[in-house]
Amino acid sequence: MTHVFHRNPRAEQPVVARGDGPYIYDKAGKQYLDASGGAAVSCLGHSNKFVADAMKEQIDKISFAHSGFFTNQPMEDLADFLVARAPGNLDHVYFVSGGSEAVEAALKLARQYFLEKGENSRTRFISRRQSYHGNTIGALAAGGNQWRREPYAPLLMPVPLISPCYEYREKRNDETSGEFGQRVAGELETALIDAGPENVCAFICEPVVGATMGAVPAVEGYFKRIREICDQYGILFIADEVMCGMGRTGSLFAVEQEGVAPDILVTAKGLGAGYQAIGAMLVSNEILRTIVDGSGFFQHGHTYMGHPVSCAAALAVQNYIEDNDLLSNVRRRGEQLHDALTARLGNNPFVGDIRGRGLFRGIELVADRMTREPLDPSLKIHAKIKSAAMEAGLMCYPMGGTIDGRRGDHILLAPPFIIDETHIAEIVEKLGSTVENVLAKAIQN
Ligand code: PMP
Repeated sequence: MTHVFHRNPRAEQPVVARGDGPYIYDKAGKQYLDASGGAAVSCLGHSNKFVADAMKEQIDKISFAHSGFFTNQPMEDLADFLVARAPGNLDHVYFVSGGSEAVEAALKLARQYFLEKGENSRTRFISRRQSYHGNTIGALAAGGNQWRREPYAPLLMPVPLISPCYEYREKRNDETSGEFGQRVAGELETALIDAGPENVCAFICEPVVGATMGAVPAVEGYFKRIREICDQYGILFIADEVMCGMGRTGSLFAVEQEGVAPDILVTAKGLGAGYQAIGAMLVSNEILRTIVDGSGFFQHGHTYMGHPVSCAAALAVQNYIEDNDLLSNVRRRGEQLHDALTARLGNNPFVGDIRGRGLFRGIELVADRMTREPLDPSLKIHAKIKSAAMEAGLMCYPMGGTIDGRRGDHILLAPPFIIDETHIAEIVEKLGSTVENVLAKAIQN
């Protein structure tokens, strides 16, 4: 038995050997098409030489110098790159090692910002049901995914949850999409009034929801109303773009497509594309000014923040994407993937919804298309699809979300930005037959 203790110690996993573009190979030589980028990480695919060379070059210069003593050029350049392209007044960047760290930093910064302003009573955060913002204690508290929270609930700060903007499940038949968006955004105002606006720091949500729902964008107008409410009550809006950011939805930042800017934006996965562990928190000028003019010190930090090799890797990733105009490919292939999934699975009696933006696509599986009744959670369809797809040489990311306290099933696809039509055909063929076979077998039994 392995001495490695990972998430599922009983699972037997193939040993990964190498990667090549959108493909991964295991030690036995089996090929897998990486249609999920792990969990929306590997946006350039694998073994990109341009990125590897940039990392080697940096390692030869200096691998690590603590950010408490030095800044470094790749970190400065990466911050310049992000700020030049970021929405609104996000013009300062704080680098960390991943998504949860970025969310923790955002929660603490929001709190410290209000402390510096003398608004000491502001300690609380509001988020949405069926959301995920990371696994560390603060980030876990901020998420509304009951299954992940449950074992740790006594350790978590209370966070009021409002409805997500999840049209497929939450829109009533008697309202338009626009009305639905305004109604669920309005829940933020109600939650704020309940908590006492003077007690609230920030609202946090994902512009396009990934892991817990499977690529669910908000309806038009939703985020404009969210922004208005945040401004009216003086709370911060934190956009969690850990999964949906860095080009995944077809624009560098997902929130750009909503026509609003957050006060804090956190991003991670696609930033370093898996070549190194890196996350970032982008912060508005107003927040940074308040800290600088106040105590002058953000009371938070981690050992590996702004790691030179991580920043060099991420900078190379982002330059490669821009220089090769890969975001055009994300938009074009995203539409093709959506159309091909719809052609193949759109009439399947267990496919309730096919959705998403760019190369961030989700398929929701249901027991009944008319009633939208989720599949029986004890069937563990998402887990069966994951292993059957691996068997067929396809990596996809099926998850059980939480629907009305029950687990539902969806499949997330987040292939690398370099895919072409042949890869789309392979994804759809392998996924289509996997879904059909798993469901036929599970429902028959
Ligand atoms: N926020 C979101 C939206 C995420 O999807 C994730 C990871 N799935 C995180 C935060 C946490 O990121 P990490 O796993 O890098 O800590």
